[in-house]
Amino acid sequence: MHILATGGTIAGSAPSPVDPGYDAGVLGFTALVDAVPGLRSVAALTGEQFSEVGSQDMSDQLWLKLAARVNGLFSADEADGIVITHGTDTAEETGFFLHLVVKSQRPVVLTGSMRPATALSADGPLNLFNAVSVAADPRAGGRGAIIAINDDLHSARDVTKSSTTDVQTFVSPDAGLVGTASYGRLRYFRYPTRPHTADSEFTVEGEVVLPRVDILYAHANMPADLVRASASLGARGIVIAGVGNGNVSSEVAQTLADVASDGVIVVRSSRVGSGDVGRNIEMDDDGLGLVASDQLNPQKSRVLLQLCLVRGLDRGLIQDAFYRY
Ligand code: ASP
Repeated sequence: MHILATGGTIAGSAPSPVDPGYDAGVLGFTALVDAVPGLRSVAALTGEQFSEVGSQDMSDQLWLKLAARVNGLFSADEADGIVITHGTDTAEETGFFLHLVVKSQRPVVLTGSMRPATALSADGPLNLFNAVSVAADPRAGGRGAIIAINDDLHSARDVTKSSTTDVQTFVSPDAGLVGTASYGRLRYFRYPTRPHTADSEFTVEGEVVLPRVDILYAHANMPADLVRASASLGARGIVIAGVGNGNVSSEVAQTLADVASDGVIVVRSSRVGSGDVGRNIEMDDDGLGLVASDQLNPQKSRVLLQLCLVRGLDRGLIQDAFYRY
């Protein structure tokens, strides 16, 4: 069982146990493991400091490096399961990326915490204990990337962060939990139904550069020139965090159609946080040349769109991918 420590609040340190301000990602891998009584008896542990970042600094480059490391550990048979300690802000995106590009059925488990390691009632140690228990459990295999946090096990595809501060922040709207973890005692409820990991068509092996895909947040009176700005700055894809069922104003819709006809792939997702975005509901996707995100939120739509563009899929196949993944 191998741990890749990337930083985040789980490795954060505050000036006092009740100080809300802290520095993320400053404690190393050894300090994280040593803070968890009994962890080394759950599984034979190896690990490394992969990065030391708050997850707001996660980048496409770090994702590619992380995917290569995870795939390398599995293909060299150096790990039965992998835990990634990660900031909570973008764990859902990193998790979904790995869910699509790791080529193994073995468990990949992300965890983090909402309180820094030095806080009164820090939540990191038990989260790490549960995450290691999951990664060491063969029953966790074949479920894609899992986020183990606050006693819940989520599919990386379905999970999202829902509160800026609450310890119970991760939810899987619509889909529900994959399982639960109680002091290392694990229960599973389901397998993700859509393809992932070894069954996914996406790979990032070799010299891959992820293309620029921007997310634009829709609102009343949204200026349409943001769409043009994004396209002219080199975005090959634009994800709209639309209002309601992925809607935008008529003016923005026309501008999206214009950039789509120039070859930019435009995906309509929603800022709402749950529910589907369907084709041709209130927006004429066929006429405007747009893609509907189906079930993915904007940040996950961005991940899937980047991988579709790496694969060279056209707009029709990208729409299929949004229905399939
Ligand atoms: N900003 C932090 C991060 O994502 C928050 C956390 O880890 O909870 O790294």
